[in-house]
Amino acid sequence: MSDGALSGVGGGINRVGIIGAGQMGRGIAHVCALAGIEVIVTDASPQALAAARSGIEAALNRQVARGRIHEGDKMAALDLMSFAPDYTAFAECDMAIEAATEKEDVKRAIFRTLVPVLKPSAIIASNTSSISITRLAAATDRPGRFIGMHFMNPVPVMTLVEVIRGIATDDATFTATRDLAVRLGKTPVLAEDFPAFIVNRILLPMINEAVYTLYEGVGSVEAIDVAMKLGANHPMGPLELADFIGLDTCLSIMQVLYEGLADSKYRPCPLLVKYVEAGWLGRKTGRGFYDYSGDKPVPTR
Ligand code: NAD
Repeated sequence: MSDGALSGVGGGINRVGIIGAGQMGRGIAHVCALAGIEVIVTDASPQALAAARSGIEAALNRQVARGRIHEGDKMAALDLMSFAPDYTAFAECDMAIEAATEKEDVKRAIFRTLVPVLKPSAIIASNTSSISITRLAAATDRPGRFIGMHFMNPVPVMTLVEVIRGIATDDATFTATRDLAVRLGKTPVLAEDFPAFIVNRILLPMINEAVYTLYEGVGSVEAIDVAMKLGANHPMGPLELADFIGLDTCLSIMQVLYEGLADSKYRPCPLLVKYVEAGWLGRKTGRGFYDYSGDKPVPTR
């Protein structure tokens, strides 16, 4: 384990409720079920909920095809998953992991409905990429049992989890969360509760700068991505990565950095704002800096 990584074993969390069946919620459900944890997934969108099971199954099939897991592991994981339109089944959960849209008012509204259903001992973790854990915790009845558990995308592949303590997070909650990350095969790293934590504090300004580079005509989409892949040895170009993350999520994180750190260097690029206003959110909507409607992504600028 590298310097700064946290160690831990086991974990007393056997049933997890996940709020949000988007790309992150599905990934978190996937890795929890593979680790033998019972999972309940909910989403405000019936379409997202309906697509979640087949989406997770397809991701598990890819792991079977690559020899990473056995067919039996896949079947066992699918057996541990259920999908529900409301929070009723969350009453039995040891932990709820919130992975809904990156908007503070959306998350606050979720906690208002969720909290009365949860047992008092249940931990609430948020997968937020940037919003203050202390502030989100204060919107619940249990700031001591509230924590940030920030998975990376795609969750089944990426091994980092940032664990973020709010000012009130108690030691037992921190230990249980860190141990859960280890049980899921991840390497947890402790990040302090500052806007966007560690990874996105560094990554998103780079992506935003890539959008400025495009906006100012320094290079085309392809030139910028090829330059960073070959010139900086990045596995993906910054614009390709932005499309992968979701341009709405990228914009929200830049806004949190801009407002939270009150520094003009975090000003979201106007072109990023325009793309989000147009509904061009990247891969998930079929168009962002690339057009995904054909066999191969085609640069749009
Ligand atoms: P997404 O748009 O793919 O999914 C979000 C889901 O939340 C949608 O299915 C939506 O219907 C659902 N939702 C919205 N309001 C809801 C509500 N009131 N109740 C229940 N469900 C609701 O987004 P995502 O990429 O999965 O991101 C989810 C969270 O994970 C965000 O906080 C984001 O910042 C964080 N995150 C994203 C990434 C990434 O690379 N995309 C990485 C790490 C963390």
